[in-house]
Amino acid sequence: MDCPICGSDEIEILNSKQKSSKKKVTEEYLLKCEDCGHVFKDIISLKKPKPYRLIISEQDKSHKTTIDLSPSDELKKGDILLSEFGQVEVTSIEVSDTRVNKAKIENINTIWASSIEIPARIGFSVDLHGEVDSFKLDLDRDFEIAPGDIVKIGKHIVKVHVIKTQERKLTSGFAKANVIKRVYSKPVKFNNYDYDLTEKIYKKTS
Ligand SMILES: [Zn+2]
Repeated sequence: MDCPICGSDEIEILNSKQKSSKKKVTEEYLLKCEDCGHVFKDIISLKKPKPYRLIISEQDKSHKTTIDLSPSDELKKGDILLSEFGQVEVTSIEVSDTRVNKAKIENINTIWASSIEIPARIGFSVDLHGEVDSFKLDLDRDFEIAPGDIVKIGKHIVKVHVIKTQERKLTSGFAKANVIKRVYSKPVKFNNYDYDLTEKIYKKTS
């Protein structure tokens, strides 16, 4: 945005307001030129996001879904999108039956992408009456752990007591691995368990 009087690009935003209609989002700015003091208005309008077909490949399977994008934007190969299956990288774009590397979104038929979700890495402590066995685990991001779960980990069978997440300490409910910082557990004298995390151990840290 340049000043219409003197052409300066030293512009101060005095005020802005957003209006939303059925098809468009309009941002109206009240601007002041810092060089000549001229006050003027400018309007930027964007088409409202709408759903586009998205096919995500993930190892040996693929997911068909949609993603809401603004038709006014541009999309290119290599862009990262946040889909309902997590972060994906655009691998190909289909525009009227041909594949292109770059397109204005309103012209796109289908977006192909591959999942770039990395596993969640969490800490897992086993309290051995004073000593602690500590592990780093790589889990699927939506893997759920609940206080009270009986878990096999290495040579231990343990009960989960507390789950520390990014926000709080949980002693009930459950948490998904992508928000878990560390799980605290104590050995129990059971032979059965809810699940085995041994194969998820990335390394033993103590
Ligand atoms: Zn000016």
